[in-house]
Amino acid sequence: MSTSSGQSAVTVLGLGPMGRALAGAFLEAGLRTTVWNRTPGRDRELVARGATAARSAAEAAAASELVVVCVVDYDAVDAVLRQERVADALEGRTVVNLSADTPARARATARWADRHGVRYLDGAIMTPTTTIGTPDAVFLHSGPEELYRRHRPVLDALGGTHTHLGEEIGRAAAYDIALLDVFWTAMAGYAHALAVARAEGITARELAPFARGIGAILPPLFEETARDADEGTWSGEGNPLTSAVSSMAHIVQVSESHGIDAGVMRAAEGLARRAIGLGHGGDGFIRIAEVLGRR
Ligand code: NDP
Repeated sequence: MSTSSGQSAVTVLGLGPMGRALAGAFLEAGLRTTVWNRTPGRDRELVARGATAARSAAEAAAASELVVVCVVDYDAVDAVLRQERVADALEGRTVVNLSADTPARARATARWADRHGVRYLDGAIMTPTTTIGTPDAVFLHSGPEELYRRHRPVLDALGGTHTHLGEEIGRAAAYDIALLDVFWTAMAGYAHALAVARAEGITARELAPFARGIGAILPPLFEETARDADEGTWSGEGNPLTSAVSSMAHIVQVSESHGIDAGVMRAAEGLARRAIGLGHGGDGFIRIAEVLGRR
């Protein structure tokens, strides 16, 4: 991982909370790290820890063979990378894009990189900033496997687990979207549950230990129902949709009796009723995935 002629081992473009965590982990691992951010000043702590501050994105791009970009979305990625001087500096180097966006944007960025002679890997970070540099971090990658293997020693400095999902460049973003779908709908459910519980005189702290128990039921259910979803078995034994929908109706009822918007639960209940209407009342909840997927 040593570098020649004053070059850094890695450049980090974008020093929001995540970019700073990534750069901090590279420094912690003893890698020469160059950093840049659109708004100046966000590099202060990193520079105090030994990072080199670049005066421009182009200077930062030229500083390392491996350039990690982590900004809010791909509009921001475009604003940084597609400046002429930056694109010129990146020619022949590798960009690992750890910003979040859609698979289509990942594919478009890969096409742009290809036209400009930039080697390109796309990635997604599935865990919060506090995990970076620890065994708990989770990184997903997609793109040319040989490129991934070549840069893996530097990426390993970020800690955690790294999974290469395949050469199709949009794959990491596709996993990211599906996994964030799980996360945000679950968090919306939790926020709604806290509002209803509060209206019934239950504090969030009182509910939290039991909510954790509900959360713990989910991982094995994900595994079991994955089999159903892939094999089309839809076993509703033990908890058919007809039973699930009645429990959902109670939640809507209590929520609305307190004047609390039940939109989140009404959406879930609506999906279940649609599946029942199509004759799948005896199937398990995951039949909804198949119903939603019909074109
Ligand atoms: P943000 O998502 O808020 O991104 C902030 C960064 O984006 C800053 O460096 C900001 O620069 C830059 N930026 C925004 N717009 C532009 C632009 N037009 N041109 C140049 N730079 C721009 O914070 P994070 O650092 O937390 O997230 C970065 C990425 O990491 C996101 O895609 C996020 O989804 C992903 N991620 C974050 C996690 C987290 O826990 N924070 C967890 C997993 C993934 P400036 O300082 O100049 O505004």
